Amino acid sequence: MKIGISACLLGDKVRFDGKDKRNEKLIKLLKNHEIIKICPEIESGFPIPHLPIELKNNKAYTKDNKDVTKQLIKGSNKTYQIIKDCDLIILKTKSPSCGYQKIYDGSFTNKLIKGNGIFTQICIDNNKKTYTDEDIDLLTKLLK
Ligand code: SF4
Repeated sequence: MKIGISACLLGDKVRFDGKDKRNEKLIKLLKNHEIIKICPEIESGFPIPHLPIELKNNKAYTKDNKDVTKQLIKGSNKTYQIIKDCDLIILKTKSPSCGYQKIYDGSFTNKLIKGNGIFTQICIDNNKKTYTDEDIDLLTKLLK
């Protein structure tokens, strides 16, 4: 299978804080598949590190309240072009770009709400099969 995956899950230090979210279990599962790694925030032109971003009322703000919605939508659309022919997408949960089903609430106080990141929503709107790093059991069955 051809799989699009958040670069931070593969160990790339591309997160806002300059760290990664390397996931060894996922990496093992991917060994017989074609991998396309992506980072919508890099494609959006954010430096590493950068201030945290959260979504509020469908808009994206940095922690110092700068509206970066347009920048993130543009970068996410660009990222979608990279993975549009992938069979499935695996994304890092809770991110304002890659989060699926839960994201932070925009208050920068670690509170989660139901919702999708901007890039994830584009994938869903285009009927891409979308999973997260929390779907290991399901992915273990799908990717063997
Ligand atoms: Fe990882 Fe996505 Fe955040 Fe990039 S935008 S660091 S791929 S969660």
